[in-house]
Amino acid sequence: MSRAVAIVGAGPSGCYLAQALLKAEPDLAVDLIDRLPVPYGLVRYGVAPDHQGTKAVIRQFARLFERQGAQFFGNLAVDGPLLDELRANYDAVVLAAGLSADRALGIPGEDLPGVVRAGALTRALYDHPDADALPDLGRRVVLMGNGNVAIDLLRLLAKSPDELAGSDLGLAATDWLATQEIEDITIVGRSPAAAAKFDAVMVKELGKLSGVTIEVVDAGETTDPEGAKKIEALAGLSATQGGSTHITFRFGLTPIAAEGDGRVEAVRFSGPSGEETIVADSLLTAIGFEAGVEPLNRDRLITSAAEAGAGLIAPGLYATGWFRRGPRGTIPENRADAQALATRILADLAVLPDAPKPGRAVLTGRAGIVTYEGWQKIDAAETAAASADRCRRKIATRAEMLALATATKEPVE
Ligand SMILES: Cc1cc2nc3c(=O)[nH]c(=O)nc-3n(C[C@H](O)[C@H](O)[C@H](O)COP(=O)(O)OP(=O)(O)OC[C@H]3O[C@@H](n4cnc5c(N)ncnc54)[C@H](O)[C@@H]3O)c2cc1C
Repeated sequence: MSRAVAIVGAGPSGCYLAQALLKAEPDLAVDLIDRLPVPYGLVRYGVAPDHQGTKAVIRQFARLFERQGAQFFGNLAVDGPLLDELRANYDAVVLAAGLSADRALGIPGEDLPGVVRAGALTRALYDHPDADALPDLGRRVVLMGNGNVAIDLLRLLAKSPDELAGSDLGLAATDWLATQEIEDITIVGRSPAAAAKFDAVMVKELGKLSGVTIEVVDAGETTDPEGAKKIEALAGLSATQGGSTHITFRFGLTPIAAEGDGRVEAVRFSGPSGEETIVADSLLTAIGFEAGVEPLNRDRLITSAAEAGAGLIAPGLYATGWFRRGPRGTIPENRADAQALATRILADLAVLPDAPKPGRAVLTGRAGIVTYEGWQKIDAAETAAASADRCRRKIATRAEMLALATATKEPVE
């Protein structure tokens, strides 16, 4: 009997780990468990709908289930008791559950209506089954944050309907974008432009938008080559003129308070020349992610880990990806992490004194599990339902996903 490995989370880090394990040891029984009925984590629910090239990594991950023998157990949220059960039944258990809570700014007024967080907004825009309703952003938006997620949101909010052709942005989000009457977006970073976290290529892409006028205030100078690329990309945006959506880049401003009577009306900042207030109907924050309140108690596990740097929490229990490292890094950056952990797990498995554990028998037969075949039915239904200007029409509710995944016959026309 082969050794059994359970990976909690079928996002990029879980998939890269499964790939590395199965490449080295094709006989391992590797199971990917996800609380959602669908695999691939933030590739499906974080990567922007107009960046389909980035989402193409899904085709690589699909081989895991279609050729390499990994099994998918979707619609199963792992909490403390289930984690104990998994540890009792698998030779190794890996937490690859990501980080999904929005980090707070920690300023007065941040609970006012009109404060919207990037994770919540992207989930709503990208048809995540647990999303909140789409908010009304008003005419003037302050977007706090200078990472690629902030730039993704800026681009989507400023795109014309034609510029979304070929994406998988859903009907509700498309209608919502069309009804928002955004005139001004001020994107604010705490750091100077040279130290901003966004990639220059993401900024250059903004220069292709048809309906914007972009102003960059005080991007400054630097001798650092990476910073210089960012400043150069920002300088290139001055060619965008005449569009009705005004975008202003501001740098070196720290938010002090969101202000307003019953709803955000302005955001107060401190900067190099003292305090400054920017009038706004909404404050959109894109400043990173954290564990939040979740059933695995991630922060406690990671702080008490035996060897956190190597991904070892305790004998037989490991962590990888954003769950281990924190909310930093692109999809490919999870690969190196996963490969190093696979080497460690294989070495640990090789010296286990006990016989292999039963593995997936503890999961099969549980009510509501979505298998990989179930996901394929959802996938086929989504691509078949796409309109001419979309590559997919995502199903947004768990009930519909489950009905499709468990359907045994073709529906009668
Ligand atoms: C909005 C956004 C946009 C991004 N865009 C890009 C981009 O364009 N290009 C790029 O390279 N990188 C992008 N990234 C970064 C990239 O998404 C991450 O590097 C990557 O997704 C991290 O992988 P992960 O597997 O650790 O986490 P995740 O992708 O979050 O996967 C974790 C999985 O675990 C599951 N899970 C969570 N808790 C449980 C539980 N208790 N039980 C069972 N399952 C659970 C989740 O449902 C999820 O499927 C983006 C990130 C965000 C937030």
